[in-house]
Amino acid sequence: MTQSLIDYHLHTSRCGHAVGDMDEYVLRGRELDLRQLGFCDHLPLLHLEDPHLAMPLDELPLYIADFRRLQQEHPEMVMKLGIEADYVPGYVGETRQLLASHAFDYVMGSVHYVDGWAFDDPRYLDQYEGCDLMGLWQRYFELLADAAESGLFDILAHPDLVKKFGMRPAGDMAPVLRRCVERIAASGVAVEVNTAGMRRPVGEVYPSPALLRMLVEAGVPVTLGSDAHSPEEVGAGYEVMPEFLTSCGVRELAVFSGRRRAAVAL
Ligand code: ZN
Ligand code: FE
Ligand code: FE
Ligand code: ZN
Repeated sequence: MTQSLIDYHLHTSRCGHAVGDMDEYVLRGRELDLRQLGFCDHLPLLHLEDPHLAMPLDELPLYIADFRRLQQEHPEMVMKLGIEADYVPGYVGETRQLLASHAFDYVMGSVHYVDGWAFDDPRYLDQYEGCDLMGLWQRYFELLADAAESGLFDILAHPDLVKKFGMRPAGDMAPVLRRCVERIAASGVAVEVNTAGMRRPVGEVYPSPALLRMLVEAGVPVTLGSDAHSPEEVGAGYEVMPEFLTSCGVRELAVFSGRRRAAVAL
């Protein structure tokens, strides 16, 4: 059932908050008979230092060397070298430089910070108290569209991550989402369907079915990932993916080599 599926969002123990060796992820991917695997660990952070969020800068070449070795050991598996990079205004130039110095197959862009607050990090959950949710969501989707237009990324990761803890604004988000979708579509980047949301308090895939339908209708290419932080999470939630994707109008998945996009039929 999962043979037609890919998992483009695998972390490794290098990031400081994931477990398992890279080859355990590959073994699990092989068990599931996935058609492509993409490692996508966190790019070293440029705007702050936190050993629990990403590998240190000097480990980036080791991550890439590990991947190359693994690729040689597993010629039977189609594997891609990706990286998950934060979109942080003010650090676009530096991020661009760092990304350009390595031969990634794709770069996944994430908004994990809204004006300095890591809103998806359980350590900072208390900041939701008295928080203006409408303002947070508006700002999040504005940053997501800015990330799309920055030219840094091939894919936008978990496009409605702001819903992670299940707290939603009371007002009508439709105009904000429409504007964001327009800007993403015009930018030409792909978006990720990320099953990690199913394992979070919100209990649903990122993006929501409604947002995914809007993106698909606007012609935005779609890729797929589990955001695995352990080998057991590879392909997590994929049982329901063929039907979920089809019901949202997705007919093919975007795949990448050397930062060029192609498509495989679902
Ligand atoms: Zn992570
Ligand atoms: Fe992320
Ligand atoms: Fe991730
Ligand atoms: Zn992620």
